Amino acid sequence: MDVEYKERVKGKDYKCKECGEKFKGVGKHPMCPSCQSENVAEG
Ligand SMILES: [Zn+2]
Repeated sequence: MDVEYKERVKGKDYKCKECGEKFKGVGKHPMCPSCQSENVAEG
């Protein structure tokens, strides 16, 4: 399985509410890569 490929297909844009980091997240509980917070919003 190619995880990176899966992320590119299913990833959505998220923005961290804690630090403002924008990132591609997957799953129901994406985590901010910058501060590891799960307090994120779609979009
Ligand atoms: Zn963050």
